[in-house]
Amino acid sequence: MALTSGLQVDQVTVRFGSHIAVDDVSLTLGAGQVLAVLGPSGCGKSTLLRAVAGLERPSAGRIFFDGEDLAGIAVHKRGFALMFQDGQLFDHLSVAGNVEYALRVRGQRSPKRVAELLELVGLAGYSDRSPTTLSGGERQRVALARALAASPRLLLLDEPLSALDPTLRARLAHDLREILVATGTTAVMVTHDHEEAFAVADAMALMRSGRLVQSGGLNEVWAAPVDEEAALFLGYSSVVDGSVLGQAPGPMALRRSALVVSSDGALSGVVKSVRGTPELTRLEVEVRGVGVVAAVAAASVGVLAGQEVRLTLDRTRTARVGAVS
Ligand code: ADP
Ligand code: MG
Repeated sequence: MALTSGLQVDQVTVRFGSHIAVDDVSLTLGAGQVLAVLGPSGCGKSTLLRAVAGLERPSAGRIFFDGEDLAGIAVHKRGFALMFQDGQLFDHLSVAGNVEYALRVRGQRSPKRVAELLELVGLAGYSDRSPTTLSGGERQRVALARALAASPRLLLLDEPLSALDPTLRARLAHDLREILVATGTTAVMVTHDHEEAFAVADAMALMRSGRLVQSGGLNEVWAAPVDEEAALFLGYSSVVDGSVLGQAPGPMALRRSALVVSSDGALSGVVKSVRGTPELTRLEVEVRGVGVVAAVAAASVGVLAGQEVRLTLDRTRTARVGAVS
């Protein structure tokens, strides 16, 4: 049954010769929602996105948008927009010219709309600049304005922030989220960066070797990673058996800050490394029967490598792995 609104990918497989790049993937995305497709390099994210765009033909399965089967519908008739890691701007056109171009190919011309779009992406006043004079982040903002110009039914983003440095990436991820929400844009963003996924999306689909391994709301996925590899890819620092931490047995994912130095802690270990930050001290601690795990101490607690420390578990910074919810 096709959903009447939004995107529905139904058991899609994409092959390149004998290589299966996307393997029987099914997912849905409601109108106005943002889905992050997260997974390591080579797992098939771009191929899946290209199949949705119509740039790859699935060897099996179907893709629907607003209930309509896209199989016979050409790329430019889908009403989707694409944005890539490198925004692929026309350097011979001005910033405004790049955005205007996207309107013009659809038979529209509106300087007012161009100005609104540039304002939306935080580039008011940049109209006459040449893209060659912009920073990487500014170029991606222009690319976003251009992608949104035609009010796409679906925006497909392939690692849109990956070429940027980490600080800029975090800021643009935040702005991207606000812009997508403000415009009510339905979007699929492919990324290998879990922080980017958490900053931008409402829902997540985790891929590995062409297959979908887990999907759901951000909190849902974060609270119950399907297996150890998923937990580590989502940004948990380690997975241990709960029983070694005095918890119920079974795999438990720990955030970097799940173990906290505390004089009355139930666990003890030897500090392997210390790295101070203004707010807290990050440690690696060898805990007997557990191995080397990340821990934190308040910045006021002086901790030295080689020292024996006691640790307490902050259960709010853990998740059960593979738990049936
Ligand atoms: P990701 O975007 O997750 O890094 P891709 O979707 O680009 O991964 O690629 C998935 C797999 O499919 C990789 O093994 C890649 O080498 C292969 N692949 C992608 N495009 C082609 C192609 N046009 N021809 C042959 N193999 C391809
Ligand atoms: Mg890719």
